[in-house]
Amino acid sequence: MLNYYKTINIQTVAGQSADTSILVIYTGGTIGMDYDRQTKTLVPFNFTKILEKVPELTRFDFELTVLSLRNPLDSANFTSENWVNIARMIYDFYSDYDAFVILHGTDTMAYSASAVSYLLQNIGKPVIFTGSQLPIGMTRTDARENFISALEIAASKTNGKASVPEVCIFFDNLLLRGNRARKVQSVNFTAFESENYPPLAVAGVTIDFNENYIMPHSTDPFYFYNKVENNVLILKIFPSIQPNYLENILGMEGLKGVVLETYGAGTAPTSPFFIKSLENAIQKGVIIYNVSQCNGGRVVQSIYETSHKLAEIGVISGNDITPEAAITKLMFLLANESDQNVIRQKLKSPICGEMSIPLEK
Ligand code: ASP
Repeated sequence: MLNYYKTINIQTVAGQSADTSILVIYTGGTIGMDYDRQTKTLVPFNFTKILEKVPELTRFDFELTVLSLRNPLDSANFTSENWVNIARMIYDFYSDYDAFVILHGTDTMAYSASAVSYLLQNIGKPVIFTGSQLPIGMTRTDARENFISALEIAASKTNGKASVPEVCIFFDNLLLRGNRARKVQSVNFTAFESENYPPLAVAGVTIDFNENYIMPHSTDPFYFYNKVENNVLILKIFPSIQPNYLENILGMEGLKGVVLETYGAGTAPTSPFFIKSLENAIQKGVIIYNVSQCNGGRVVQSIYETSHKLAEIGVISGNDITPEAAITKLMFLLANESDQNVIRQKLKSPICGEMSIPLEK
């Protein structure tokens, strides 16, 4: 375990007397980069020097420890193993800290936050993912604001308990449920949205929590799952999709699950070859999970003939889940549940706030 990181202790004004302690886990991404004048490229900067970039960190009235992965990653290089490692670190340090802030690349942050939300069930403490569009070493960086606000939110308490006891993404001015968020911008600072679920908090002059939408403290035991299934894929349909493409992709050796990205409210072609390819895969035991290509709204497989057919052959409706939360949910359930009926049932309903209660059975 210790191979994964080095520790940086930040001396805050709170000293040893603080009643709140936060663990920051730096995994990589733009947030930890600096501009190298010689090579004229962005390169990871030595995170032990974080105080030079964000001297404000010493002014917090809570204890702060930063763990840095030995080899920080561009999040484009993340695999499911990295998700398990982050979850394991939080699990290992769970009783030592009151909250966790994960510094992460923005590109796959929504996948990681979703995966960690499934791997750490009934978490009673805040886990706030954040990152930035500009490196922390640049003058106009959004990293400082994002990092500082994420720390404040992580430390926040309501009636003596963590204000947000769940896995979230904080970015720009929004705190979003991690498994509801999507990266929607590659240029502007407003990089994340959660079209189907209201923000859990909005940070302006004050940080206003949207208490009605925050996960209540769970009374069930905290549990860490360490398995994820990788034999899955996302299949985005498009007009004129070809039979040989479908057959090849759905006929892949070892395939266990597919997130099918359909149109609008969950529609897809009714051509016999299309339905037959999906049906064959389902009969071989592949689970197919229907999510929409639209950012907002939901899949309802009973509205159109073009979606009803999918329901008939056993495609499962993902309702208003995001593709990121859907693929990670499939990977989580396929690895941790052995009974296909249980997996199918759990895909239809929320397990940790990742989708709304379904309208259809
Ligand atoms: N490619 C970077 C990453 O996801 C982008 C970022 O952090 O904004 O690691």
